[in-house]
Amino acid sequence: MNQITVTLPDGSSRSVPAGTPVRAIAEGISPNLARAALAAIVDGRLVDLTHPLQRDASVRIVTDKSPEALPLYRHSTAHLLAAAVTNLFPGTQCGIGPATDEGFFYDFIVERPFVPEDLEAIEKKMKELAQQDLVYERQMWPRDEAKAFFAKRGEPLKVQLIDEKTEGQKEVSCYTIKDKETFIDFCVGPHVPSTGKLKAFKLLNTSNAYWKGDARNAPMQRVYGTAFFSDKDLKAHLTQIEEAKKRDHRKLGRELGLFTFHQWAPGAAFWRDKGTTLYNTLANYMRDVLLPNGYVEVKTPIIYNKALWETSGHWSHYRQNMFQVQGSEGEEMALKAMNCPGHYLLYASDVHSYRELPIRFHEQTPLHRNELAGVLSGLTRVRQFSQDDGHCFVMPEQIGEEVERLLKLVQRVYDDLGMTYQPKLGTRPPEFLGEIDAWNRAEAQLKEALDRAGMAYQLNEGDGAFYGPKIDFDVTDAIGRKWQCATIQLDYAMPERFDLKYIGADNTEHRVVVIHRAIFGSFERFIAILIEHYAGAFPLWLAPVQAVVLPISDRHLAYGASVRDRLTAAGLRVELDERQEKIGFKIREAQLQKVPYMLVVGDREAADGTVSVRERVVGDLGGKTVDQFVADAKLRIDEKDTTSIKVEPIEQGGPESAVARR
Ligand SMILES: [Zn+2]
Ligand SMILES: [Zn+2]
Repeated sequence: MNQITVTLPDGSSRSVPAGTPVRAIAEGISPNLARAALAAIVDGRLVDLTHPLQRDASVRIVTDKSPEALPLYRHSTAHLLAAAVTNLFPGTQCGIGPATDEGFFYDFIVERPFVPEDLEAIEKKMKELAQQDLVYERQMWPRDEAKAFFAKRGEPLKVQLIDEKTEGQKEVSCYTIKDKETFIDFCVGPHVPSTGKLKAFKLLNTSNAYWKGDARNAPMQRVYGTAFFSDKDLKAHLTQIEEAKKRDHRKLGRELGLFTFHQWAPGAAFWRDKGTTLYNTLANYMRDVLLPNGYVEVKTPIIYNKALWETSGHWSHYRQNMFQVQGSEGEEMALKAMNCPGHYLLYASDVHSYRELPIRFHEQTPLHRNELAGVLSGLTRVRQFSQDDGHCFVMPEQIGEEVERLLKLVQRVYDDLGMTYQPKLGTRPPEFLGEIDAWNRAEAQLKEALDRAGMAYQLNEGDGAFYGPKIDFDVTDAIGRKWQCATIQLDYAMPERFDLKYIGADNTEHRVVVIHRAIFGSFERFIAILIEHYAGAFPLWLAPVQAVVLPISDRHLAYGASVRDRLTAAGLRVELDERQEKIGFKIREAQLQKVPYMLVVGDREAADGTVSVRERVVGDLGGKTVDQFVADAKLRIDEKDTTSIKVEPIEQGGPESAVARR
């Protein structure tokens, strides 16, 4: 029999007969590896352990430590779900069951919608099937035979999938669990070798769905679940889901009076006064960060003739995502979905010398994207938003220095907000624009800048945009979720399209490089992240209301008003609670509104010219003169003190209050 050579990740190789399954390679390395094996990567392609090796190949065994493992594991669990559903509810039609970032789902056509008891029964059945350690078997069927088989079983959706996904193939892969009576599905694979590998999973909820997401198609039931390699990880994730529900920015946004929506303006927030204050505080903070660092703030038009979008390429590739409008002369126009093209026109409106570079534009005007109504969600997916957007126009040799400046700004902003972050460097993808040499020089400059900034980064080879390499940042919130926010992207393509140049020291024209950059990303989405990160209890410098003055009774109203006015004049954001309510009630309300300071005023305070200070987390701090309180609060604001937000927010009443008992 003909021998082939298998190369392992450590560079060693071994000779095996052609047709050897990859499982045998794992067994040949060690029994432990064979036990831990879930799948394999053969010449860069993820395959089942039963995959026969037909020619020389590089082989890496996938275990639960491999980055590829979790999606494979979750997708395999989706099949287990489908097996349980079809066993418990004969006649159910299966759709698709992919892994997601959070777990997996499977879509079904069922006679009646699932109820919570159904999910319990399905999960129980899944556990049974897992305990039986049933084999996932890949079978190659003649394409016509497979189509006839699924058609006869009353599964037209599978027939449609085979038609779409395997055009021109003679054979298609079907997977059974145990045997085709127990479960069979058309799937490209791969999967874990047997159901016994699936240890920690949980079904979460159901929702209505449509085949292919199109409401004209058959209605389906989508069952969501999640799966992890250990019970511990699963439990941690379920706790995170519970915690995330409590922090949901849509719920807190309503309770804290920050924003609302109306059906007549889908995906566009109505910012109430407190939300507007929060928004403006962040917008001005970003100006305070950027303007002293060489940026100029600009405002460019919202609506452009389609000629601009044709030049940028958006008209052919992105038109359906933009709101199109007609000018009075019938000209075709569109609302801007990003600021970049406007900034190019602004840059190109002057002749620039190398001495002026870098030129840095910052803009916060509104952008519009015509998102599908079905994907709109709170502030995280909207149609109208603004960015802390910016474009730096630099000479190629300035890239490294400019990126290092940018990294320092990113560092400063996330430190101020008390968030941790992880940079990811995306390098040249297989299809790219421009010269390889320019890419190599740019990537080297980005790496050096990251090193000089002392940032450990994740290298994502080939993950750059086609127009240039990039650095993206994931920030981690208080409950461990990751959000991609800041981005730094080099662009060689647009300066060509828009003929952006500068006059060099040699008195001739040269091409600039554009750096697209944002630190928050969209204000709307970033505010959603902050609301959930802080659970609505903003640090003092961000809180829409920083202190509330609480008169004990009506006769203290006048003194309370004078305190409010003095604090407001000192630049603090202060409210006066004038309601005829008991002081304990007012304190409780202020706690629920997550106001950092409650200032109680009664006879003693009015006589002494003081306030009784109560901090939301710490509790009573005793009496202070108004001036002393202003000085203390301003110090915390200047320092952007985030200490109190690290303490679990108090939901009811708060620490026992001496003031409240008065
Ligand atoms: Zn599958
Ligand atoms: Zn841009």
